[in-house]
Amino acid sequence: MSFPVATVDASALRNNLAVVRRLAPRSRVIAVVKANGYGHGMIRVARALADADGLGVARLADAIALREAGVIQRILLLEGVFGVEQFALAAKEQCEIVVHSPQQLDVLEQFAGSHRFVVWLKLNSGMNRLGFRVEEFTAAHARLRRCSSVSQIRVMTHLSSSEDRGQVTATQLKIFDDLVAPLGLERSAANSAAVIGWPEAHQDWVRPGLMLYGMSPVPNRSAADFGLQPAMTLSTQLIAIQNIGVGESVGYNGIWRAERPSRIGIAAIGYGDGFPRGTRNGAPVLVGGKEAPLAGRVSMDMISIDVTDLPQAKAGDEVVVWGEGLPAERLAPYADTTCYELVCRVTSRVPLLWKEA
Ligand SMILES: *Cc1c(COP(=O)(O)O)cnc(C)c1O
Repeated sequence: MSFPVATVDASALRNNLAVVRRLAPRSRVIAVVKANGYGHGMIRVARALADADGLGVARLADAIALREAGVIQRILLLEGVFGVEQFALAAKEQCEIVVHSPQQLDVLEQFAGSHRFVVWLKLNSGMNRLGFRVEEFTAAHARLRRCSSVSQIRVMTHLSSSEDRGQVTATQLKIFDDLVAPLGLERSAANSAAVIGWPEAHQDWVRPGLMLYGMSPVPNRSAADFGLQPAMTLSTQLIAIQNIGVGESVGYNGIWRAERPSRIGIAAIGYGDGFPRGTRNGAPVLVGGKEAPLAGRVSMDMISIDVTDLPQAKAGDEVVVWGEGLPAERLAPYADTTCYELVCRVTSRVPLLWKEA
């Protein structure tokens, strides 16, 4: 195959769920599969993670797609739903919903269907994205309790900086706990970084995403440190080798120039596949299992790699840009991004190839 393929390892996903369970043994797990399962293929991910206690998605359309695929697990709509039609669909698809705004409360109070929702009431504890502010929260909770279309209320918040052990998260957790602990409701606060670094945030439900896919949410800590295995390996092949002389440049705009007689491997992957165009020279890729640096501008369908120090490299060799043997976390800084974005922006022309145990 001389084209890129994203191989997804179902056993890595299951291993990573087991890591979550070991780290948060008293919590139930909402496996976050939004954005097409962080680019890994939402439905297959959901099936691989059938042992999770629920799935988290951002959009109603994802929940519908999961149900159409026969997924019967609990589904939590992380942004809730908007408008009467969406509430009705969420009811039909048996989804649990986040309620974070007064507008959603209005619709819920008017909801005429017979369905009774499990509602996750969201507190804005400092992220300032979604959720009721502290001074609004108690009234919102009281409204929900009076709502005949609500069967159960849980409470949640989202952490803005849980990848470090600093004061921000401690403050958010204190605001959350002070307000909601007296209510005696089930609580949820932890994303991946908090599953790893904030045991006090585990509470009743954890909501990991990134770590399930085997990537590290903590800067300067590798996923392997926590026993996580990358679920996606994005690979392709070398399709040509160029021998070039000192002073010659490679690729568009000649942003890389040979300082020695050089061998350049051309690999069939580019920004048309989701390899970021802005990736800087020197970014590591694996050629035949050995690291070599990116050399020259990323094209739509190709990248160029300095394989001068890999004299055995030849057309047809496997090239891995991230995954097994080369964590996506290594590439991300060369592209001024995070591994979250790298896996999410793999484009639809890249086939997802599933590897079952
Ligand atoms: C995306 C998301 C998560 C998962 O975050 P990770 O950092 O990928 O673990 C958890 N909770 C909410 C509300 C989210 O939007």
